Amino acid sequence: MGKTDKNFNFERRNTLKKLGLVAGAITISPLVSASVAKENTITKKRVLRVAHITDIHIRPEHNAPIRFEKCLEDIKKHNIDFFLNGGDVIYAANYKNIVRDRVNEQWDIWKDLRSKFSEYDMHCCLGNHDMWWAAPEKTDPMYGKEYVVKQLEMPATYYSFDRQGWHFIILDSMNDKTIALGEDQRKWLAEDLEKLPADSSIVIMSHCPILSASGVFKNGNHKDYEEITKIFYKHKDKKINCFSGHIHLLDAAVYNNVNYYVTGAVSGAWWEEGDEHSAQKYWYRETPPGYAIIDLFDDGTLLNTYYPHPY
Ligand SMILES: [Zn+2]
Repeated sequence: MGKTDKNFNFERRNTLKKLGLVAGAITISPLVSASVAKENTITKKRVLRVAHITDIHIRPEHNAPIRFEKCLEDIKKHNIDFFLNGGDVIYAANYKNIVRDRVNEQWDIWKDLRSKFSEYDMHCCLGNHDMWWAAPEKTDPMYGKEYVVKQLEMPATYYSFDRQGWHFIILDSMNDKTIALGEDQRKWLAEDLEKLPADSSIVIMSHCPILSASGVFKNGNHKDYEEITKIFYKHKDKKINCFSGHIHLLDAAVYNNVNYYVTGAVSGAWWEEGDEHSAQKYWYRETPPGYAIIDLFDDGTLLNTYYPHPY
């Protein structure tokens, strides 16, 4: 894997060997940003280490549960403070032909796996594949978003919280029958940012990218990117970093000094071997299955490193 990683971080390779992790960590650096420009490696202090896992797409097939568990053991070695889970936790509940037993089967596997790292906090967002829209009635307790909110122990479909001087905003990408926040959530987002003092350090997680380069592959970016980027521009006195998944590809982009990171999928090619576009077995196109470890510093900078997993 190492030879394909142009931004290979050698310091990390030694650490990886010590931890017994696969080599090939990729440091994801945006091209320019206020936070990078202000970087001061001497005085800044790491206040949090977070794992961003996304698109787990857990399913009974392809030995996925055991492979995820192995990946989890690797993540635990990084001594993280908590998990950010970017959604598409289960393989798929959203298709028209999905029956109740199949939905339950997938959530049961998830619950069993979650119990294996219950000592960690996990903050989740909704993925497009998580909701069962084919329930016989809209009043069915398993129908739609509320059921997923319960499964993932989320306080609401979108919410925010604070840790160690960082503000975290968790968004719901599935609204208006497309990839969008919708008017109510955009208003909430604007108000949530309004409450924060200048120079605040912010991480925003959504399932789908608000903006990204790899989003063009699946037409997977937010359709309301124009409204959202306008909201962000009003808060250009703050350090905003957006994280997403959904595309199963890895990238970083900067627009108006906001960093937009897309993290590859834990499931790679949905735990399958891949297709003619896969650069290697289990990869989705050129991105290996993996997870991101994000170090957050007290000066509002962050270090985002993508760790491929070989399972
Ligand atoms: Zn998705």
